[in-house]
Amino acid sequence: MKNDAFPITDNHIHIDLKQGKGLEAVYEFERSGGTHMFLVSLPSRHLGFDIKSADDYKLLFDETLRVSNKINEETGVVSFPVLGIHPVEIIGLSEKYGIENAKEIICKGFDIASSYVVEKEAVALKTGRPHFETNQGIKNASNEIMSYVFSLAHEKKFPVQLHVEEMTENSLNDIARIAKNAKLSPEKIINHHATPLVKEAEKYGIYPSITCGKDMIETAIESGTRFLMETDYVDDPVRPGFVLGPKTVPKRTLKLVEKYEAEPFWKIHKEIPEKIYDVEIEIK
Ligand SMILES: [Zn+2]
Repeated sequence: MKNDAFPITDNHIHIDLKQGKGLEAVYEFERSGGTHMFLVSLPSRHLGFDIKSADDYKLLFDETLRVSNKINEETGVVSFPVLGIHPVEIIGLSEKYGIENAKEIICKGFDIASSYVVEKEAVALKTGRPHFETNQGIKNASNEIMSYVFSLAHEKKFPVQLHVEEMTENSLNDIARIAKNAKLSPEKIINHHATPLVKEAEKYGIYPSITCGKDMIETAIESGTRFLMETDYVDDPVRPGFVLGPKTVPKRTLKLVEKYEAEPFWKIHKEIPEKIYDVEIEIK
C-alpha cells in the first residue's frame, strides 16, 4: 500500500545489488509504504573486498554510492548513503597486519570516507566497537578509532552512526564521554541497534535508532518520540531470516498509527532525521 500521508524512513538498512535481493528489496519497502532509507555500507568482507590498505576502502564506499544512486534513479524511494567500516574489521586486520597498522588503515579509511561526506556524496559515517567481548588491545584501538571519527565529525560537521555493544545507561555514558573529549555534540550521534531506552538516551543527548523487533517500538513510544526506527536488513540470501525484512519499518509504523495516530511518526520519520543529518525528507 502506498502511504501518501507522511514519509516512512528506515534509519539503517543494507542493500546488496550483487548477491542479495537488491532493488527487489527496495520495491518491497516502497510497496509497504516506505519512502526514505539511510543506506549503510556493508562489511567489506561481505562484498568480497580484501582490504590491504586504506585506499581499498574506496571500493567499498563507491559501491555504497553506486547502490544509493541506483535506488534513487530506479525506485520511488530516496536513499541517503552512510559510509562505514564495520567495527569488527579491526580484528581481522590486526591479525594480519598488527594492531597499530590495522588502526592506521581504518583511520585513513575514515579520512577518505569523510571527504565523500564533505563533498555531499554521503550524509554520515558509521563506526563503533565490536558488540561482543574482545581483548583489551582491540577495545582500546576501537575506542581510539571511534574518538578519531568523532573528531572528524566535529571538524567537518556531520553525524555519526554507531554500532556498539547493547545500549545501556553505562554504554551511553561512556560514548558521551568519548564524544565530549572529541568535542562532538552527542546530538550528532545515532546509536544504531538501540534498546528502547528513550529517556536515558535523551539524558546523554544521543539518538537511539531502535530495531523494529517485537514490541520494541511500542515500549519506546510509551516513553517518548525522540528516536529513529530501523531494520538493519542485510540483504543476505544465505541468512534471509537473520534480521528483519525490508518491509518491517513501514508495516510496523502503519500498524502503530492505528493506536498512536500519525503525530509521533512525523517526528520519527521526518523531523528527527532531518535535524540530525541535515537532509530534506519529502515524499518524491
Ligand atoms: Zn547494519
